Amino acid sequence: PPDTARLQQLDRDHHLHPFTDFKALGEEGSRIITSAEGIYIQDADGNQILDAMAGLWCVNLGYGREELVTAAAEQMQQLPYYNNFFKTTHPPAVELAETLCRLAPAHMNRVFFTGSGSEANDTVLRMVRRYWALKGKPEKQWIIGRENAYHGSTVAGMSLGGMAPMHEQGGPCVPGISHIRQPYWFGEGRELSAEEFGKVCAAALETRIEELGADKVAAFIAEPVQGAGGAIIPPDSYWPAIKEVLAKYDILLVADEVICGFGRLGEWFGSVHYGIEPDLMPIAKGLSSGYLPIGGVLVGDRVASTLIDEGGEFYHGFTYSGHPTCAAVALKNLQLMEQEGVVEHVRDVAGPHLARRWKELEQHPLIGEARSLGLIGALEIVADKASGKRFDKTLAVGNLCRDICFETGLVMRSVGDTMVISPPLVITTEQVDELVRLAHAALDETMRRLEQ
Ligand code: PLP
Repeated sequence: PPDTARLQQLDRDHHLHPFTDFKALGEEGSRIITSAEGIYIQDADGNQILDAMAGLWCVNLGYGREELVTAAAEQMQQLPYYNNFFKTTHPPAVELAETLCRLAPAHMNRVFFTGSGSEANDTVLRMVRRYWALKGKPEKQWIIGRENAYHGSTVAGMSLGGMAPMHEQGGPCVPGISHIRQPYWFGEGRELSAEEFGKVCAAALETRIEELGADKVAAFIAEPVQGAGGAIIPPDSYWPAIKEVLAKYDILLVADEVICGFGRLGEWFGSVHYGIEPDLMPIAKGLSSGYLPIGGVLVGDRVASTLIDEGGEFYHGFTYSGHPTCAAVALKNLQLMEQEGVVEHVRDVAGPHLARRWKELEQHPLIGEARSLGLIGALEIVADKASGKRFDKTLAVGNLCRDICFETGLVMRSVGDTMVISPPLVITTEQVDELVRLAHAALDETMRRLEQ
């Protein structure tokens, strides 16, 4: 068995983790995860933990799928690497491109591959501005995103995103990006009905376009459901109103499908659930169920035809754009999802079951709202149910609950005092029940510790 203490010491001494307060590793050290099967991960001490986050919202087919391992091994023997630059390509990239475009909305027939979701959003930024330049409107430069949105950690990704702590570190953001409020009804809009609040948030887009000048705005970027911001499911009135505004001012829509894509909301893409027709869709994560790193941008006909017919060479690409081994695994992942009806399972079975069971948690004294859509969900922890008042920030109740979850066999993520889940899409109804039971017990224990 692995020597946990030794690994923790080496980790402390040498490893700078993403999104981690390095000092806070302290006495306790990191949790060392050594293996996984189905929806469960196992740590170095042999504890089994239900992974209700599917890693980082990505292990959609669950852990331990031999078919994906075989696809990788066979491709590595055949052709471990070759690039897609300068008029060369290889079968996995081409087959994956075709499969993706078949699964995507009808007007999306091209894909540009990247190594990650962040690179996909860097690509989006350049593609959008290039599109308008080719259209003879180079002054259309502004991209509007949303506060508290996450679109990645590269400079372009974090600039498109609206996370204040990220903007404050590492120097200036990419210029020409503006952020509007998010449609977070529980957190910011409860003095209105959800319907009214959705319209107010969409009106904020129109106001910003007018402020910046419609002839200067290139695109609006948003996730169908905001993931890392706290599983923020917009009111039903939001997307139809946003769609109208974008059409009125002829502004491109970028739907970041990195989390919502590949079945999370019960459709192949979150945009389909909301009936929106994006011009560009960045994708990653569930594309390969996280088994290997791969991302891309699905490009609608409007932008693709301009790039192709009027563009000439696009000076952009990554060594690992369409990496053959990653592409082979992604292709197999999508084939398995189709064969096994995973998207239908989310839409018709696991999603509705989670919706019913999750809602029961609203009865818990700590919970102000329990919401879910497909297999993404959130719990709002509050100090007072009637008013929705939060606990004092210094108590860091969300992190306390997250740590209790881990100790008791459940991975839930905390975003402030919002607890978030995004389990593997293959979760069964019995496993959903287990998830809810573990979450309930963790909330009880959180309450007990707060009362101590
Ligand atoms: N876009 C969204 C919506 C994401 O949630 C993420 C990652 O969490 C990214 C982009 C960035 O993807 P990656 O971490 O693969 O660069």
